[in-house]
Amino acid sequence: MNFLAIIGGGPAGYTAAEIASKAGKDVVLFEQTALGGTCLNVGCIPTKTLLYGAKQYFNAKNAAKYGVTTSDVSFDYAKMAQRKTKVVRKLVAGIKQRLNNEHCTVVNGAAEVVSRTDEKVVIRCNEQEFEAENLLICTGSVNFVPPISGVKDNPAVWDSTAALAATALPESIVIVGGGVIGMEFATLYHELGVPVTVIEAMPAILPNLDQEVVGILREKYQKAGINILTETKVLALQGNEVQTTNGTFSAERILISVGRRANLQGLDALSDLELNRGAIVVDDFMKTNLPNVYAAGDVTGKIMLAHVASRQAEVAVGRMLKQLPLQRIAYNAIPSVVYTNPEIACVGMSEQEVSRFYQDMEGKSAEEVRDKYEVRTLPMTYSGRFVAENEGETGLCKMLIDKRQQTVLGVHMIGNPCSEFVAAASFAVRMGYTVSEFKQVVFPHPTVSEILKELL
Ligand code: NAD
Repeated sequence: MNFLAIIGGGPAGYTAAEIASKAGKDVVLFEQTALGGTCLNVGCIPTKTLLYGAKQYFNAKNAAKYGVTTSDVSFDYAKMAQRKTKVVRKLVAGIKQRLNNEHCTVVNGAAEVVSRTDEKVVIRCNEQEFEAENLLICTGSVNFVPPISGVKDNPAVWDSTAALAATALPESIVIVGGGVIGMEFATLYHELGVPVTVIEAMPAILPNLDQEVVGILREKYQKAGINILTETKVLALQGNEVQTTNGTFSAERILISVGRRANLQGLDALSDLELNRGAIVVDDFMKTNLPNVYAAGDVTGKIMLAHVASRQAEVAVGRMLKQLPLQRIAYNAIPSVVYTNPEIACVGMSEQEVSRFYQDMEGKSAEEVRDKYEVRTLPMTYSGRFVAENEGETGLCKMLIDKRQQTVLGVHMIGNPCSEFVAAASFAVRMGYTVSEFKQVVFPHPTVSEILKELL
């Protein structure tokens, strides 16, 4: 009875289970499929594994620009898919081992909350009842199926899970939704020679990211032959055809990637749990409106990223075990990466956000607040290592600085391998570094990370 129940074994759930067990708390973790959740099984890891295979092929085919002659470069998608499965298995086994090491009980099955009082939460799983002191909900999210005629039960339609499960490439693909999932799959299929059309409802692909950076990707992808349509609404699907406000497109497969929604499965008994637009409302310390119920990860609908989920789990467990220093999650300093080629990585406010913030605060127009912040940009080619390794590429690094305080507000980059050093920029944003403080950090030479230094 005196234990913590965790429903869901993704990055939020397994992180919480490991640290709570380490701190001496008895933990029971319920997981209905495999440990690792969406990220390890049907999200980040399998996607990045396939993308790496595609990049190897693409680079081999285009090696002439580095003085390497290749002939008959080919690939075997079934083998790439097999390797993806092997990588996933290895990492899932690693999570299992870590939880075993901490003597954490893992129950394989679909858990359901039966009842809750302020003293206990009763959970049923595999016909057995468990009475816990606290509950941490880490049930994640599910692919959103838009209410478009012809999507449901259409054999041509894939969601990202079905796309990852395939062992053969489609002959052609239409991707509905030019967000993160859409553009990563566009990269995978394009690099492997599949004709790709992307249909995005908003005026831009990746509409939540810095648009100067995104513009570079769009131009490059369009030149390479990816058909990208923006401000285009899907009217209906009919078999392999996608009817839109901009014409009809057909392909062997239609990938629907228009967002994810919080997964509230098994929580019906918590009828007084506060929700906002279908996601669980939590305070700064991941507590819900019910005293002994916490939530972390995608189910809170905050920022659906694995690294946010694990940070939320740390905070939730710290709060529950009364071991938390008063430290809120710095949502303003969460890095995010889009694994296109070239990669996009960013942290902090975008130029559009900074401008909007000042317009709001001062009640002035965009032009009138333009002197409140500084925008510094440089092509990535200011880094010697970038030039050495990215023939024909330019890239961009953009830094936003508050003019009065001289603090770094945001960094937005396009160019390989910016995902590997965006954490340095996150550190500066998180710690509220001024330009002169950040300048004292020594960056190794020659690395692409030096581009940050160049901007200071
Ligand atoms: P998203 O919100 O990033 O993108 C969905 C896109 O679909 C948006 O651009 C939206 O304007 C568009 N859209 C919505 N309805 C549409 C319609 N009817 N027709 C055309 N376009 C439409 O969502 P996603 O790409 O599905 O990803 C889901 C979540 O998973 C996101 O929170 C994302 O951050 C996360 N994720 C992260 C990574 C990463 O960190 N690299 C990778 C994959 C997914």
